[in-house]
Amino acid sequence: GSTIGILGGGQLGKMLATAAAQLGYRVEIYSPEPDSIAADVAAHSTVAAWDDIEALERFARECSVVTYEFENVPVAPLAAIKDMVLRPGLRALEVAQDRLAEKRFAEDHGGRPAPFAPVANAGELETAMKSIGTPGILKTCREGYDGKGQWRTGNGGASDDDLAAIAFPETGCIYEGFVEFESEFSVIACRALDGSIAFYDSAENDHEGGILSRSTVPASMAIVAQVEEARELTRQIADALDYVGVLTIEFFATANGPVFNEMAPRVHNSGHWTIEGAVTSQFENHIRAICGLPLGDTALAGKRVVMDNLIGEAADGWVEILADPQAALHLYGKGQVREGRKMGHVTRVERT
Ligand code: ATP
Ligand code: MG
Ligand code: MG
Repeated sequence: GSTIGILGGGQLGKMLATAAAQLGYRVEIYSPEPDSIAADVAAHSTVAAWDDIEALERFARECSVVTYEFENVPVAPLAAIKDMVLRPGLRALEVAQDRLAEKRFAEDHGGRPAPFAPVANAGELETAMKSIGTPGILKTCREGYDGKGQWRTGNGGASDDDLAAIAFPETGCIYEGFVEFESEFSVIACRALDGSIAFYDSAENDHEGGILSRSTVPASMAIVAQVEEARELTRQIADALDYVGVLTIEFFATANGPVFNEMAPRVHNSGHWTIEGAVTSQFENHIRAICGLPLGDTALAGKRVVMDNLIGEAADGWVEILADPQAALHLYGKGQVREGRKMGHVTRVERT
């Protein structure tokens, strides 16, 4: 068959489905959310809970390969589905959906994360803050994105009262030392079924309030000097997971080299520039990889590429953005504008 199943119905699923359609595949979306935006561009969608085994089984039967656009899909129900070809696999999902597991995994493969400690309650937080020091960041191990589920300590961060009031989730938290980084970048790799791996040029990523605001390629020289080491770690991790598809790792560029921040077992916001700015987009390469096809060229298609996220009300100015002939506009069709919500993005490729 030639149906690709995508677990998750957000903008990444929508962009994956669009790339898959271009290659002639039929796409099915599985999402607990009714009216998911990815379903708008898919042939079929299933609206069911993540732990609905029967629905998952039916979905898997219809798809020759299943992938995910969201790293928080519960692992146990997927593990119960027989005869499902899941790419990337379950282990990648398991490691990347838990900050503690991913940091340990990175360390095991030669990576250097910020100093960290698991914390389950206020007492352990106090101990961790003493041993690791402040400033630092407390993060939930699971479910956090766009800086949600994080509390900063020291230097104008959360007060002692704020920290004492935190309801520690059952699934745990992690306390990590604050990294005095020069800049941030990501490595976006695509590993094919035969184990060959391709890298995109690393983007320099700017964040505002914990949310990615801009990705620029090429990155500064300070970052470019650290990309090789970061790629080597990415390759080690991808090989160890027998990974198939696009894998993203976020790094801090520091005076002491690249510091591992987190990984995403999927296409990534900091790779949206590849739609117009690379010969083959991260979305198409992910589809090629999971379908066992040769990868496309990851080379830059211009001199410089800048991708700006349209967050919250910023998307209201989209008609003005279209007045700029250099601007490639993407609106996700999410409807309700909310503060901090990613509504779209705009990419500008400088050709000469
Ligand atoms: P994403 O949306 O990328 O998944 P997230 O919610 O998982 O984000 P992180 O990537 O851990 O969160 O953190 C968001 C941003 O906060 C980072 O990109 C960085 O700018 C800042 N940050 C996180 N951890 C640290 C740290 N230990 N030291 C300094 N800055 C940090
Ligand atoms: Mg994250
Ligand atoms: Mg991040």
